[in-house]
Amino acid sequence: MNPTAFASLNLHDALLNNLASLGYDRMTPIQSQSLPPILAGRDVIAQGKTGSGKTAAFGLGLLQKLDVKRFRIQGLVLCPTRELADQVAREIRRLGRGIHNIKVLTLCGGTPFGPQVGSLEHGAHIIVGTPGRIEDHLGRGTLKLDKVSTLILDEADRMLDMGFQEVLERIVDQLPQRRQTLLFSATFPDQIQAIARLILSQPVTVQVESSH
Ligand code: ADP
Ligand code: MG
Repeated sequence: MNPTAFASLNLHDALLNNLASLGYDRMTPIQSQSLPPILAGRDVIAQGKTGSGKTAAFGLGLLQKLDVKRFRIQGLVLCPTRELADQVAREIRRLGRGIHNIKVLTLCGGTPFGPQVGSLEHGAHIIVGTPGRIEDHLGRGTLKLDKVSTLILDEADRMLDMGFQEVLERIVDQLPQRRQTLLFSATFPDQIQAIARLILSQPVTVQVESSH
């Protein structure tokens, strides 16, 4: 079988069907290199420039291992901005379409707390949000992350550029130590290596030069 075919991975049929209807015929290089270790449960650091398909790489990893019947927060995706969080949530929802009642909730700043707290009371499987607002919810006790089994840092370089390093570390302190952590970034400066050493465990590193 073509090694870049999604069907070469052991993904749920529902995910393969969604990929086909999205027109994702083949894996992009970052997907074909990062998905095998992600699906094997490893921590992964993946670097690839904008447009290389990073969202589906971590989104499929997250959706494949989700236990939909357990209605609790199992995945946390941290993004630098609200726009990016919205895009990521939308892509995860598209990839997870038709899989029984998957609930993806975004928690970002610039939005009133009240409705977010209301949504949290209804529960979710996956939270996508910005570090500041996630930390605010943790401080207020409106968000508990003690059942998270997958942490994803998307656009980690931008989050560090924006000064989120310490917030990220405080959020990570609230997560179970036994978890899978995936770090995605467009660039790979020293600061990324430093935070990776703190929050990832024996990561596999994947670097892709071009998007084709
Ligand atoms: P990145 O996060 O690396 O910047 P995105 O995840 O936003 O990239 O993906 C860029 C674009 O490529 C999106 O429009 C997405 O729908 C599309 N895409 C992702 N994976 C595939 C694929 N395997 N085949 C075709 N299009 C894809
Ligand atoms: Mg992206």
